[in-house]
Amino acid sequence: MTPVEALVCERCGRRYAPDAVEYTCPDHGGVAGVLDVRYDYDALGDELDGALDGPTDDLWTYEPLLPVDGEPVRLGAGGTDLLSAPALGDALGVDALVKNETTNPTGSNKDRGSAVVVSRARQAGHDTVACASTGNAAASLAGYAARADLDCRIFVPADLPEAKAVQPRLYGATVLGVDGTYADAYELCREVSADRGWYNRNAAMNPYAVEGKRTLGFELAEGAPDADWVAMPMGNGCSLAGAWKGLREFERLGVVDDAPRMLGVQAEGATAIHDRFVAERDGVAADGGADSTDTAAGERGPGAERRDGVGDTTADSIDVSVPHNAGKACRALRESGGDAVAVSDGAIRDAQRLLGECEGVFAEPASAAAVAGVRAAVERGTIAPGERVVVVATGTGLKDSASAREAVDDVISVDAAGEGLPEDL
Ligand SMILES: [Zn+2]
Repeated sequence: MTPVEALVCERCGRRYAPDAVEYTCPDHGGVAGVLDVRYDYDALGDELDGALDGPTDDLWTYEPLLPVDGEPVRLGAGGTDLLSAPALGDALGVDALVKNETTNPTGSNKDRGSAVVVSRARQAGHDTVACASTGNAAASLAGYAARADLDCRIFVPADLPEAKAVQPRLYGATVLGVDGTYADAYELCREVSADRGWYNRNAAMNPYAVEGKRTLGFELAEGAPDADWVAMPMGNGCSLAGAWKGLREFERLGVVDDAPRMLGVQAEGATAIHDRFVAERDGVAADGGADSTDTAAGERGPGAERRDGVGDTTADSIDVSVPHNAGKACRALRESGGDAVAVSDGAIRDAQRLLGECEGVFAEPASAAAVAGVRAAVERGTIAPGERVVVVATGTGLKDSASAREAVDDVISVDAAGEGLPEDL
């Protein structure tokens, strides 16, 4: 039995039976009424002790807390290392830990979401899954679909880094490069999936896409129960919202006394969630995200007409001008007593190299943004010196060596006899 009690609309609060709605709240149309999956916490509490007894091999360690019936699809997502990071901490002026999500099976934290969504798709008898992606969710859905023997269709912005376009095809997915932004790819995926009966994993639109990401929060609660902050990048806002949901649940279930504060980090080229959070906190009206305005059926929010997300930041994974889960992300920041910061591409590049040199973690620019965000938050006094901060390295840098190239020194050319070898090396 799945522990799901109801689906609740983030916008109007209407409750639905778990099987009554597949995607968003029908009262608003389009993607405006994002649904939140609610659980029977008394039942979850009864299941919890067994789940926490042994080591966390992968996210299915928490299977009793996940909305999946029957045999799940296994590829090894979750159970990632939580590294103490003293050199990085010295550089940032905090007590740092790195949650290394780059070691997930397809290279990013998206695997936590795909594991749950693809398991549900297989149970429901779907034969084709689809999503729009800036790259990591594409690879992740494609890998899990291969594992589950499902067909997979991926919609990506055509200017995707090369490796991110190759990886899902190697897993057998069909990749459609959309001449437009991520927002355009998202909308086209929504229309075509509805038309052809494909199961749509799209962030926010599929309420279960966030649910697997709760397991990151579970692991952080268990591994760093005394953390003051968790710093994460924000693109659509799903990963941060999911992690916070898991942390909050483990607080509620008594696993930790106090959940940490969340630091949400965006790149200066794509700041919609940051702007909305700051505006709501300061009592100013703001337009930030596809779920923030009254959107008629089939239409996108006004922000969707902006095309300013194209190539505005080196951090392609969070280059999202119309975030679909901005509401959940802002609520997570607010409930946790957290904050949002925006960082420059230059700061992201410096942080990418710092993370590599200090701790041996090759993270993508979006992940490095979280490191740069901690530095910015310390400088402005949001994070106090010496506080315990977990930086979540959400995805590997190996998929985008071209952008990492800008953060490193040149290769030194040496002939076979050693001519050219620097004397001072
Ligand atoms: Zn609603």
